[in-house]
Amino acid sequence: MRKNIVAGNWKMNLNHAEGLQLFAEILNLVNSDIKGNQEVVICPPFVHISSLAQLLKADSNVSVGAQNCHQADSGAYTGEISASMLKSSGATYVIIGHSERRAFFAEDDLVLAQKLDSVLKNELTPIFCIGETLEQRNAGTHFDVIESQLKEASFHLNDGQFRQLVLAYEPVWAIGTGLTATPEQAQEVHAFIRSKVSEHYGAELANDLTILYGGSCNPKNAADLFSQADIDGGLIGGASLKALDFIDIIKVFN
Ligand code: 13P
Repeated sequence: MRKNIVAGNWKMNLNHAEGLQLFAEILNLVNSDIKGNQEVVICPPFVHISSLAQLLKADSNVSVGAQNCHQADSGAYTGEISASMLKSSGATYVIIGHSERRAFFAEDDLVLAQKLDSVLKNELTPIFCIGETLEQRNAGTHFDVIESQLKEASFHLNDGQFRQLVLAYEPVWAIGTGLTATPEQAQEVHAFIRSKVSEHYGAELANDLTILYGGSCNPKNAADLFSQADIDGGLIGGASLKALDFIDIIKVFN
């Protein structure tokens, strides 16, 4: 069944004490405000994952995730972190293919396909991000770009593997800019993504897939975005760093 997920991507923000404090505030506020079919995922910097995961209660609807991982299980890759290490630290989700990883760390479809394989092999849930730049949208090529990102990095997966994915549509022009996609713009792309998944994996799997929207999502616009038929939650950057804003976004599903 399709889940509603609100995920916070803290990016490279908050020292350890600040991260612990924000997480404790979120846990305090979230418990009474979360529905059975909803999950909340917090993706802090790597160094906070283990401490945050230790604060989780058994059968909580809150999970801890990572923002990236290396595609290999272990080896001579100085400075990198593997999916199996994340699993052993208590993470259950991993963001893969964020546009900042694509743009600043030259991650291409091939490496993202390998990362998805590694995350799935370690029984973690990938939050796989796709989305077009402003130039691509202005040139009218956004549907082609999104279809290509989806196919090249994830359509090699078998049905059972693809079923484990959470997708996130994050238009690059909306990230950190205050320029949110309108609910109609976002819905149009989410429906397109679901239709491409349906063509390849069938309608039942496509219908069960959780597709998140990300890009300047905040307490003011979340309700309109999440009320769209194919938008199942959000991947939140800036607003996930403020406990009250983040909780207000979570509450949209109540
Ligand atoms: P903002 O919510 O800050 O625009 O960031 C979105 C994002 O990149 C989440 O992964």
